Amino acid sequence: MTPSKLRPVHVFCTAVGLVGAVLLGVLVLLAPPSVHAFTGLAFLALAASVILGELFPLELPRRSGDGEVTVSTMFSFALVLGVGLLPALAAQLTASIVQDVAARKPLWQVGFNIGQYTLSLGAAAGVVHLILGHTLLTGHSLGAVELLAVMAAAAAFFSTNLLLVARATTLYVGTPYLDALRTDLGFGMSVSAVLLCLAPVLVTVLDASPVLFPLLYVPLLGVYAGGRQSVRTAKAEHMATHDSLTELPNRRWFRDAVNRAVTGRSLRNAGLLLIDLNRFKEVNDTLGHHHGDNVLRQLGPRIRAAFGEEDFVARLGGDEFAVFMPGADAASVEAAVDRLQDAVSAPVFADGISIEMDASVGLAWYPFHGGDVDTLLERADVAMYRAKTTQCQLVTYRPEDDYHSPMRVAMASDLRRGIEENQLVLHYQPQLDLALGVPVAAEGLVRWNHPQKGLVPPAEFIEVAEHAGLIKDLTYKVMELGLKDLREWQAAGRDLSLSLNISVRSLLDRHFPREVQRLLALHGVSGHALTLELTESSLMADPAMAKKAMNELSELGVSFAIDDFGTGYSSLAYLADLPVRELKIDRSFVMAMNTDSRNRIIVHSTIELARNLGLRTVAEGIEDVETFDRVRDLGCELAQGYYMSRPLPFNELERWWVASTTPVDAKLAAERRGGGVQQPVTRPAIA
Ligand code: C2E
Ligand code: MG
Ligand code: MG
Repeated sequence: MTPSKLRPVHVFCTAVGLVGAVLLGVLVLLAPPSVHAFTGLAFLALAASVILGELFPLELPRRSGDGEVTVSTMFSFALVLGVGLLPALAAQLTASIVQDVAARKPLWQVGFNIGQYTLSLGAAAGVVHLILGHTLLTGHSLGAVELLAVMAAAAAFFSTNLLLVARATTLYVGTPYLDALRTDLGFGMSVSAVLLCLAPVLVTVLDASPVLFPLLYVPLLGVYAGGRQSVRTAKAEHMATHDSLTELPNRRWFRDAVNRAVTGRSLRNAGLLLIDLNRFKEVNDTLGHHHGDNVLRQLGPRIRAAFGEEDFVARLGGDEFAVFMPGADAASVEAAVDRLQDAVSAPVFADGISIEMDASVGLAWYPFHGGDVDTLLERADVAMYRAKTTQCQLVTYRPEDDYHSPMRVAMASDLRRGIEENQLVLHYQPQLDLALGVPVAAEGLVRWNHPQKGLVPPAEFIEVAEHAGLIKDLTYKVMELGLKDLREWQAAGRDLSLSLNISVRSLLDRHFPREVQRLLALHGVSGHALTLELTESSLMADPAMAKKAMNELSELGVSFAIDDFGTGYSSLAYLADLPVRELKIDRSFVMAMNTDSRNRIIVHSTIELARNLGLRTVAEGIEDVETFDRVRDLGCELAQGYYMSRPLPFNELERWWVASTTPVDAKLAAERRGGGVQQPVTRPAIA
């Protein structure tokens, strides 16, 4: 051990060893034992038992993990009582040194064990000597005073041993001393009481009828077998309630623990968190399950450490974890979620790559959102789903997000009727060609013209439509409306193309391409005027199937845009392989461009990236002239946003169009798009 590696535990253990050795030396010098003490039957029987006891520790299950108890101390304590301290030390120290050397323990640990046994047995012998003045095997019968002496000696042995061992362990592990004393006290006392109380029995039997001594091994063997069996049972129980990958408790344990907590009387309130890692599927798909497991193995303990000791943390399966926080309030949940995000976003290593993860968290409150574990889990799941779709880190349950809630079920049937009764309307938001300075396309955005609620925005019903199986009908209705309006525009001589948002369920529907073809033919418009917008995540749901449908539609002239680009986690390798013409940079990046340089960099590099892939870019969410100028200077092709126009009903778009383009502009634009010379472009005549 070099001085730089010298830790307090080494100093402490060495000191205990030295004190023990000095005490031993003094004892040998002052009261050297007679040879007779080492040749008597009692010594031989007990010393042999000490060695056996040291070699075969008793296994016992403990809450903090399996524990081992060395039964040798029972016999060495009996030696103290019946034969004397030095014979006891001779047997115990020989056994301990042999065992430590065989286990290749470092010198400071060997020294500590010598010191610890010398001091503990010395304390016991001192108490016996003080009370009785002699050992027990000297022809005296055992009376009340002897019993008192034995108990006092056992207490002295136990407490000296506990204080020394707990100090050494806490110095080694770095945990608080008092905590360790408190946790070890109960277990230590119960075991020591059994073992140490047997010692006077051993002594009496050896004194009176030594032939009976071997019989005392019978109950001991029973204790051994029982201990081993309970360790095995505890291990099986641990396996049934814990996840082997992360060593965290599993779903079964979590449900039981939460159920117990909510049926107990003391719980007033609690938070149940459902945590789902973002992009984990991508890690699994790209690096393989083996490395996915590796990531989970690294994150499990970090997730556990982000929460308090009183919180229940479990892995429910896959990349999903649950936490129950008894007595938590909003502030403590938020603080814990911050710690959690820090913990998961610190790099993890898989396949030699450093990966940074983050998580979506859904929260349900006990008893406000549910009184039992299943309801709480279900509601935290609804909140977690919302956290994922809105890209928030933490979302609290709201009944309106819950597709099982009566409110959502009622809304779904309302929407079904709304679709049938033509309550859906399309508003159009123009897209401006930044090089030409004129509007060239419009995005159709659906609204629900509800008889009582008025115009309902899509954010409030698209998700309901997705969950209620209404999205396909909704998409076809939107296409019908859009293509009908497009036809009118074209008939009026406006060279405009139309973008429509398509949900993944529609795209993956086998009949979709044929249905689009039918609708195009029905309204007499060419597929070349139609762009379908898909989000990254929808493409990743089933890339092969998406590609097939997109290829079929491309043959009709239909083109594709990736909507809200930058918010999903799509792999560029997939995107480059798809027939996509356009990237629509998500408005969250565009809107923050002027205030946040990182967003500026994201927008800039997305434009560059798109150009290198042969795609054009649309900047969404342009709200002011600075952003407009900036995206144009960065070479973005199209712009869309409130600065030019909010989404407008069909007839208002017509008026806007007339106001913002002169016939000459439109003609020039059409010519230039046909390949003419580009002119420097000014800002649009709108604001
Ligand atoms: P999106 O496709 O990304 O549409 C753009 C959204 O951004 C629209 O919201 C639009 O009003 C809003 N927006 C445009 N410019 C600005 C701006 O400068 N500032 C701000 N703050 N917002 C701007 P809207 O109409 O509420 O639509 C929301 C989303 O609903 C759409 O996002 C789209 O994902 C979905 N959606 C709309 N119509 C349909 C549809 O027919 N089918 C499907 N499946 N989804 C639709
Ligand atoms: Mg869109
Ligand atoms: Mg968008």
